[in-house]
Amino acid sequence: MLPRSEGGQVHILVTNDDGVRSMGVLALARALAGLGKVTILAPEHNWSAGGHNKTMHKPLRIDRVTLADGTEALASNGAPSDCVALAMLGALDEPVDLVVAGVNQGANLGEDITYSGTVAAAMEAVIGGLPALAVSLDCYEPGAEFAPAAEVAARVAAAVTRMRLPEGTFLNVNVPNRPLSMMNGVRLTRLGRRLYRDVLVRRRDPRGRPYYWIGGDVPAADEAVEGTDIWAVAHGHVSLTPLHMDMTAYAILPSLQPLEAILEEATKAP
Ligand code: MN
Repeated sequence: MLPRSEGGQVHILVTNDDGVRSMGVLALARALAGLGKVTILAPEHNWSAGGHNKTMHKPLRIDRVTLADGTEALASNGAPSDCVALAMLGALDEPVDLVVAGVNQGANLGEDITYSGTVAAAMEAVIGGLPALAVSLDCYEPGAEFAPAAEVAARVAAAVTRMRLPEGTFLNVNVPNRPLSMMNGVRLTRLGRRLYRDVLVRRRDPRGRPYYWIGGDVPAADEAVEGTDIWAVAHGHVSLTPLHMDMTAYAILPSLQPLEAILEEATKAP
């Protein structure tokens, strides 16, 4: 079991990177309400692809906001990871037991995790020693139906509450865009490989100076590699990818041993 905050209830921090007004965060908070006390603390604007941030050069603020259905929430001018840090460092009245980030509009698969503010929020949580989930819906269009993904998130959250994840690890959850009854179950997966289709758009401002947008289509992916998160979602499965913060390339450590000898002299006192 998770350690319970005072009052005996699990305190779940819900955040996201699409902004506190996103319907995804509201659906998630509603679905998690049955598991304990839920506090929404999310960015006041969209931080999608904002990555992992620690705001150091401006003050952070937290404002009370009322969401579309009347739910009270907290909005911060910081990044998703700042929201998690604020909560963990005592900005909320009660300590947090679990962090759930999402439901993000758009899947976070393969290399997406390195850009994702949703995943960064979960990373911030595990750095602070809290269990966390990042939850994303494989739908990029406005008007997405978040309820099924939020329901999946609640079930995963309930399961990881019973079965603690190892220290420093979290789950990246991606949900296909369909009703629960149309999903093909859950698969434990590894990260796949994204195929980004970024294009550089170069324009000129009114003073003739060039400026740039990085644009392009929604990223594609190799859906044929069985066992990856990309394969799972493409085949209607919910993907659960366990992630950890240790990015060491263990497999190549032995083959890099000669580097020690090559650089030995240059880096040692005579
Ligand atoms: Mn997003």
